Amino acid sequence: MPRTPHALIFPLPMQGPVSCMLRLAELLCISGIPVTFLTTDHIHRTLLRHTNVLTRFSRYNNFRFRTISDGLPDDHPRSGERIMEVFEGMKRVTEPVFREMMVSGCFSTESDFPVTVVIPDGVFSFALGVAEEVKVPLIFYDTVSPSALWTYLCLPKLIEAGEVPFNGKDLDVMIKNVPGTETFLRRRDLPSFYRLDDLDNPVTEIILKEARCVPRAHGLILNTFQALDEPVLVHMRTLCPNIYCIGPIHTLYKSRLNKEPVVPTAQKSQLNVSNSLWEENITCLSWLDRQVTRSVIYVSIGSMATMTVDQFFEFWHGLVNSGKPFLWVQRPGSVRGSYDDDQVPKHLVDGTKQRGFITTWVPQEAVLAHSAIGGFLTHSGWNSTIESIMEGVPMICWPQNVDQQVNSRFVSEVWKIGIDIKDTCDRVIVEKAVRDVIDVRRSEFTESTRILGELGSQSVAENGSSVLDLNRLIKTISSL
Ligand code: UDP
Repeated sequence: MPRTPHALIFPLPMQGPVSCMLRLAELLCISGIPVTFLTTDHIHRTLLRHTNVLTRFSRYNNFRFRTISDGLPDDHPRSGERIMEVFEGMKRVTEPVFREMMVSGCFSTESDFPVTVVIPDGVFSFALGVAEEVKVPLIFYDTVSPSALWTYLCLPKLIEAGEVPFNGKDLDVMIKNVPGTETFLRRRDLPSFYRLDDLDNPVTEIILKEARCVPRAHGLILNTFQALDEPVLVHMRTLCPNIYCIGPIHTLYKSRLNKEPVVPTAQKSQLNVSNSLWEENITCLSWLDRQVTRSVIYVSIGSMATMTVDQFFEFWHGLVNSGKPFLWVQRPGSVRGSYDDDQVPKHLVDGTKQRGFITTWVPQEAVLAHSAIGGFLTHSGWNSTIESIMEGVPMICWPQNVDQQVNSRFVSEVWKIGIDIKDTCDRVIVEKAVRDVIDVRRSEFTESTRILGELGSQSVAENGSSVLDLNRLIKTISSL
């Protein structure tokens, strides 16, 4: 007799992965697959504080939340320079508790059905060992960009070929051992930790484990669509033959939920369902209503990246000097260090009063969809990149770490939908980039972004590639 499926979804406790996995969870619930969503106590509490997840998911009687400790005190920032402590805490506390939970079968006592598939973040290599131990299939969901994941999967080869660590410091040397990217990927476009001289460090260790474990899993879910990443996917399939491209997950999610009778009509009309870990300031949308079409530059460095006070002032000067209106998200803790208000030049204060809107967190998908937005100065996180593509908004990329260096190179050199200003932070460069995106090169960029966004929309339309891959995933999970 076939077993009732039961998916255990386990995201990395960070904004992007949590959003992506909540959406996948809901898509599976709608398809009749029971889901247990395992997240850290900290993320769970934060979601309850700022979102309506409990009400939203209460309509699915096949869904439940479970929580696990991340081993850190409540007041830990879990971002910026202390981000590695999240991984240390998880290694120390979460990994053994997770194993204990799986071995004891505690996820089935509540649901009545044993877990039939584990869907953890791609970076949770430990989950593969546990799943193998309890003989449950595992499908990784890697929420970083496929292009960056491809550089992770190629890391053993890069080390073997002597390309990493870098021999000498010339960051403009081309990389030869990431197939499909030979003509445009330089050392500086690899994830930032590839710049470390010593391979004996915790990040390289995590990435090498990921490179070993991802190909061993039953499958791999990616937040992309085939037309966007096929040149990389074609190579990735040689290592991981069973890939499900179900992106852009936020768009696929909206289009699926729009068709669901179980979703209240009120929610269908405002399907920007928030999974935010900070309180969203929606008044920025009324401010955008008062701006000229495609005139505003939106600025955000996402949920984890930080900048120094000097960099902050370079951005501020560049934005004000560009003469363009700007909407700037300054997440609490995103600027390292402090400054006195009387240090701020008068023309910055005046320029901001005239043309700026500064806030701590916004409903980003709604912001990018607003007709007043003409460009996005971004840290090139993968969610931000794909959300911008879907709204046809060109980007200025200021990448910091993880997949961002790779993403920004694809934006500027492969998709040609923006400007990469990585490894610089200068008011003149920022000012010029803003003018280029909003004025000088506007038609070139908006046209190429529009075409990609169109391909993304086709992938989530009826019989689109992402819809077909989601259906294939659901079928696989039902049959495991
Ligand atoms: N985001 C948001 N409001 C903000 C800034 C960011 O809702 O003010 C969301 C954004 O839409 C994206 C996520 O936070 O989905 C950031 O993910 P991304 O992968 O871009 O970067 P990360 O935060 O992981 O570095």
